[in-house]
Amino acid sequence: MKIAVLSRDASLYSTRRLLEAGNKRGHIMKIIDHMRCYIDITADCPKLIYQGEPLTNVDAVIPRIGASYTFYGTAVVRQFEMMGVLSANGSEAISRSRDKLRCLQLLSKEGVGLPVTGFAHSTKDIEGVIELVGGAPLVIKLLEGTQGIGVVLAETYQAAKSVIEAFRGLNVNILVQEYIKEAKGQDLRCFVVNDQVVAAMKRQGAPGEFRSNVHRGGKVCRVKLSLQERDTAVRAAKAMGLQVAGVDLLRASQGPLVIEVNSSPGLEGIERATEIDIASKIIEYLEKQRAKQKAEQKVEQKSPGQG
Ligand code: ADP
Ligand code: MG
Repeated sequence: MKIAVLSRDASLYSTRRLLEAGNKRGHIMKIIDHMRCYIDITADCPKLIYQGEPLTNVDAVIPRIGASYTFYGTAVVRQFEMMGVLSANGSEAISRSRDKLRCLQLLSKEGVGLPVTGFAHSTKDIEGVIELVGGAPLVIKLLEGTQGIGVVLAETYQAAKSVIEAFRGLNVNILVQEYIKEAKGQDLRCFVVNDQVVAAMKRQGAPGEFRSNVHRGGKVCRVKLSLQERDTAVRAAKAMGLQVAGVDLLRASQGPLVIEVNSSPGLEGIERATEIDIASKIIEYLEKQRAKQKAEQKVEQKSPGQG
């Protein structure tokens, strides 16, 4: 197969590992900077142009789209889809997961366990939202934050009220969430590929820090998941329509609660912590999809004009 990794930086660990794994399995691998592709939507047949040349020779793409490039990045993935190119994750699913509110709404519809979460527009409703999540301490999150930036623990009712007022005053959208104290600054990252958890790690926040993000000084180690945790992670990825997903869970007293579903989960921390070759599992998934696509094309060719 000819597989393109959509990535802005060839030197990133995840990009390098995907390239290496694809080459090892006999594929022709290429890195494409999605921000340097431009889209031709005027012609009958949709095209993408990269470095002055139309991209015609790609069978599958693996999107590795940074949070700040979601809009353009997903437009490029959508164009590949229009061209009949397979994608490890669909453009719709990537957009869904990037918006924390949309993500949690979809998960709640599917009955996946979540911390109680509130969202309001008017500052007149702040008190109601604080009450809804059980009062302080509570967690306040920017809708499109990553790496723990924009996640605040408000320990008292007054602190919660002033932080929410401040954010709303800046016209920033935020979620207000029940604080899961018993998680003790830890969370679980479950790496899901094709409806299976292929690796999992535990992240522990730096001393005194409730956020476990590695970018905030968190440490990682391998972890054995319970059946319920596995099941929750798979159901969360499915609800988002993601075939490659990093599902983050908190171990709460009532069971695993999903806080986030990531559509471009990093490979470095988790491959190092678990010694599992996750990159190859992503390539294997694309191989299966390609075989399925070919079988479908054969059926179509045999029975033209039907269905
Ligand atoms: P980001 O997208 O910035 O990583 P998260 O929602 O994943 O934001 O939150 C960052 C970290 O904060 C999580 O990994 C977790 O350790 C901690 N955290 C988030 N929400 C809660 C919560 N409701 N209760 C306790 N800890 C939380
Ligand atoms: Mg997170």
